[in-house]
Amino acid sequence: MAALAKKRPARHRTRATPSSSSSSDVEAAKRVVSDLRDACATPATTLDAVAAAMVGEMDAGLAAEGGSSKVKMIVTFVDALPNGGEEGSFYALDLGGTNFRVLRVRLAGGGGVAERVAREVPIPHRLMSGDDATSENLFDFIASALAEFVADEEGRDGDGGDGERMRELGFTFSFPVRQTSIASGKLIRWTKAFAVDDAVGEDVVAALQAAMSKHGLHNMRVSALINDTVGTLATGSYYDDDTVAAVILGTGTNAAYIESTNAIAKLSSPPAELGNSSNTMVINTEWGGFDSPFLPTTEYDQALDAESLNPGEQTYEKLISGLYLGDIVRRVLLKISTKSSLLGGGDTDLLTTRFVLTTPDVSSMHHDETPDLAIVADKLAEKLNIRGTSLETRRMVVEICDIVATRSARLAAAGIVGILRKIGRGGAGDERRSVVAVDGGLFEHYAKFRQCMESTLEEMLGEEAAARMFIKLANDGSGLGAALVAAAYSQS
Ligand code: ADP
Ligand code: MG
Repeated sequence: MAALAKKRPARHRTRATPSSSSSSDVEAAKRVVSDLRDACATPATTLDAVAAAMVGEMDAGLAAEGGSSKVKMIVTFVDALPNGGEEGSFYALDLGGTNFRVLRVRLAGGGGVAERVAREVPIPHRLMSGDDATSENLFDFIASALAEFVADEEGRDGDGGDGERMRELGFTFSFPVRQTSIASGKLIRWTKAFAVDDAVGEDVVAALQAAMSKHGLHNMRVSALINDTVGTLATGSYYDDDTVAAVILGTGTNAAYIESTNAIAKLSSPPAELGNSSNTMVINTEWGGFDSPFLPTTEYDQALDAESLNPGEQTYEKLISGLYLGDIVRRVLLKISTKSSLLGGGDTDLLTTRFVLTTPDVSSMHHDETPDLAIVADKLAEKLNIRGTSLETRRMVVEICDIVATRSARLAAAGIVGILRKIGRGGAGDERRSVVAVDGGLFEHYAKFRQCMESTLEEMLGEEAAARMFIKLANDGSGLGAALVAAAYSQS
């Protein structure tokens, strides 16, 4: 920026660094960071208001289908969760990103998973979008890979002769679906890298089942259609009966929980007609869409949103999840580079490129424990072509990572407290254990994020109540969960 052309010599330079920075440079940069710290602050009062607003939006989402709440509260038709007593072999298919996975698990009834075999298959780009990307081609490809996997598996353990037995498959399809029963649902819209236009509005289970028949899988039935959040809840519940909710903290964020049917005003039929005997129903909140004036947002969040594929949507997700944290940090660094020469000045090509800095980069810099912050230096050089920063500047970068990750972790904790309040868990007099199953790379790999989320939960719930609250990593809840729900809904 022109205003910065005039540089004063640094007065107290104690060590030579390749970049020359004046004290006004340092002041300008410090101001950006302190403004960021103020705008991202999440004091107890804010978190409490966020949790309360989350409860309000959840209530509104349960009141009526297609209401104004941005928290959609999708009825999943899952009313029976696996409890560990399930037995038999079950298949699962997990479609939600660039790879899809096929799994086979053998359950022996004793609570564990006796055997689990998985295969990951990349989906050709031509089937995800473009002229070849038709529903028929996509499901044909999936069914063909599934058929191959089944043949290999059953050939391997000599199971092939049992051709009459009906095999059951759980299908995790992590796109917005209007579900009509446990094993049927129509695609509302694609997200992520998918654009298979003729599949929108189609029953994805019917499409898969038809393709399976074409590939000779006549003895396999799709017995459950779920998303990754519900799969994580099922996995948590399989291992621990006190599991009440599940949260995804990965590329995106979402949550599911067990609700009592009489709290779901928008249920189209009375629970008995749905065959519901448990009086409970899993709700897929789609909480990533949550928005509230209490959410602490910055100019960087506004710019990120405006340039995103879905402006004005998924506000909570954009403050929290792995797809975005790196890009928020990048935007702050870009701002500093326009106000000072601490980040090398000059060439900002990379600093203006969206998503060049990822959340795993932020995590590595945040965890850098080398005395001279060598990892930060490496990341800045490798990802942003910023070289020769002073130690003080690198410390500032770590602080920015800390501010952005802390806001994310604390807001995620507030959402969890919202769900617990919604179902009357975790209050002062509640003696019950409550388990929340969590899956996703952000939670799994970003230790400081995870620690901050857990300590914030304790801060919000109080030490005593927090001692009965357990956050459990449900690794690969998405794939395993589909097989477990299929087992819980097994008709054999
Ligand atoms: P998905 O959510 O797409 O199913 P994952 O649960 O594997 O996939 O989460 C992947 C996301 O987790 C990445 O987009 C990234 O943001 C985040 N992530 C992965 N590794 C790390 C890490 N080391 N530190 C922080 N975040 C990470
Ligand atoms: Mg996932």
